[in-house]
Amino acid sequence: MSQTFEKLIVSKFGGSSMADKEAITRSATVAVNRGSSVVLVSATYGTTNQIIEMTDHAKLGNWDEAKNVLDKLAKRHLELAQEFELNDKELSSIKEILTEASTLVQGVSLLKDCNKKVMDSLLSIGERISSHYMRRAIANVLAQKNINKNVTYFDIRKVMITDDRFGSALPQLELIKKEASKYMMDAKHGEAIFVSQGFVGSTKDGQTTTLGRGGSDYSAALIAEAIGANELEIWTDVAGIATTDPRICPKARPINQITFQEAAELATFGAKILHPTTLAPALRSNIPVFVGSSYEPEKEGTWIKKECEHRPLVRAMALRKNQSLLTITTPKMLHAHGFLARIFGLFDQYKISVDAITTSEISVAMTVDSSIDEEKELLDELRSIGEVNLESNLSIVSLIGNNINHTPGLAQTIFNGLQQDDTELVNVRMICLGASKHNFCFLVNSDQADLAIKRLHQTFIEEK
Ligand code: ADP
Ligand code: ASP
Ligand code: MG
Repeated sequence: MSQTFEKLIVSKFGGSSMADKEAITRSATVAVNRGSSVVLVSATYGTTNQIIEMTDHAKLGNWDEAKNVLDKLAKRHLELAQEFELNDKELSSIKEILTEASTLVQGVSLLKDCNKKVMDSLLSIGERISSHYMRRAIANVLAQKNINKNVTYFDIRKVMITDDRFGSALPQLELIKKEASKYMMDAKHGEAIFVSQGFVGSTKDGQTTTLGRGGSDYSAALIAEAIGANELEIWTDVAGIATTDPRICPKARPINQITFQEAAELATFGAKILHPTTLAPALRSNIPVFVGSSYEPEKEGTWIKKECEHRPLVRAMALRKNQSLLTITTPKMLHAHGFLARIFGLFDQYKISVDAITTSEISVAMTVDSSIDEEKELLDELRSIGEVNLESNLSIVSLIGNNINHTPGLAQTIFNGLQQDDTELVNVRMICLGASKHNFCFLVNSDQADLAIKRLHQTFIEEK
């Protein structure tokens, strides 16, 4: 029996869908049932964290500890390879990847140092191994269903060309499209299923890169765009995007439809379910995105589209942790111009992204990732402009919806909702409203962030 080919679908299965043989087989069944042509996978659950743990030990020169983690990692993967009954070729490929990891980590341990280039090669091994299991699992499902189709293990580094910003490399779309049209035509024409790696890329001269933590979603969106897919599917451990993170608020409800703009705000402002850059390619090329659970594929899930019939004022809320508030104050700003240009010029030079901003006549305050602490040179340069104050342990709470900046009374409802209970007042450190129709955000202490989300969820979602 051959499978009919109706739509060109790219599917991505995250680490949570790649936990063990059962989960991988379940995911493979989903991919086959949906008729996916390209399946990109994450490393198996916990593997990326384990690689980081191993490298952290090695960086301190603690070879025994590093070796211990490496042995655990290798044991787990050789067991999985056995469970999937991989053939000799597949098994030797996995062994080669593990040997590469061992060589690299020994080097790190000797040097007590790991640059970002070496780190990316180490990080890539998780996805390079897990895609072997997925290829085999899909081949098994096709055989069971008596479907005659090739399943190809594909090294995404041939196509996912990036710059050399190791650790969070920038994909080069034109080159990706060019290479995809060279290597991925069989997938495009529905003649084979390509199984490949999310997260991993390569510079033009063949050095392995990664797109940053959680970057497999972005990989899938880029490949979908490059091959002109009709749909992008993100399969994870929850049945779509919910009104907030269900781990913070168990009463979070599934969202059936959401616009690209709203979903992009959610992802940027902390909803882990999607990597922040995922929606840029989908929006650019108008590719509808489905988010669903590989554990419960029959559930409705979420469609992210250009237009939605229902556009509520508040659709969802997100939390972005690990934020710092950087304030620069100088009386020289009084009736002067050019200060903001100087400040943001420096942020551009140091490639630091700023999220929320407020200004007064003599000061400007902005939120940045808490890793700003490590940017000593930037902070020194900012000190030459004015007095610099850095507050840490903050989180951004965002309300995402429609017409947010033109709805009278919304701010009052938000602050009444936040302070509904006299026992603990939520202290709002900074507010950002006005720039976007889709976002209202404010800064709170991290230890009050979950409480803020729960109270707002009650006000805007549960009581509706
Ligand atoms: P994967 O391994 O599939 O990439 P992630 O852990 O990266 O999965 O993302 C899925 C998780 O995102 C969910 O388990 C959930 O806890 C979290 N999450 C955060 N915000 C939301 C939201 N608004 N809706 C659904 N899940 C969310
Ligand atoms: N495996 C990588 C990570 O854990 C990439 C991903 O899963 O998207 O960050
Ligand atoms: Mg993820």
